[in-house]
Amino acid sequence: MFVGEEVAMAYNTKNRQQLLEIIKSQKDRYIAIDEIHAALEKQNIKMSLSTIYRYIDYLQEENLVSQYIDVNDKKSYFRYIGDNPDCQEHLHLKCTQCGITIHLPPDTLNQDNIQDFKIEYNSSIINGICKNCQ
Ligand SMILES: [Zn+2]
Ligand SMILES: [Zn+2]
Repeated sequence: MFVGEEVAMAYNTKNRQQLLEIIKSQKDRYIAIDEIHAALEKQNIKMSLSTIYRYIDYLQEENLVSQYIDVNDKKSYFRYIGDNPDCQEHLHLKCTQCGITIHLPPDTLNQDNIQDFKIEYNSSIINGICKNCQ
């Protein structure tokens, strides 16, 4: 970590914590950047989108948050992974209606024909509709 980053983080530890709490409170659900912005405003916390992105960068470096960019709406979605460090090693299903995440076992795709394929788990999400939303 650079000295400058350390200062920036120490300077606004409170904002970082407020942001983390919002993402964390979603449990396993992905939250969009504009939803985060709205949630902060609701708590009377003024934070610009660029500031939110900057803090989320830190949170990703700390392996607390995972980012996913939806190919359809091109929006960034975030999920708390602090409780699930192995989320970098398995695939996820995401409900396009409610955003809930289902963690798949690590060996789900363990087929002969793809054994040598290195999957990028962070950016690979299978979209669908969960049982509750059908
Ligand atoms: Zn997971
Ligand atoms: Zn759903």
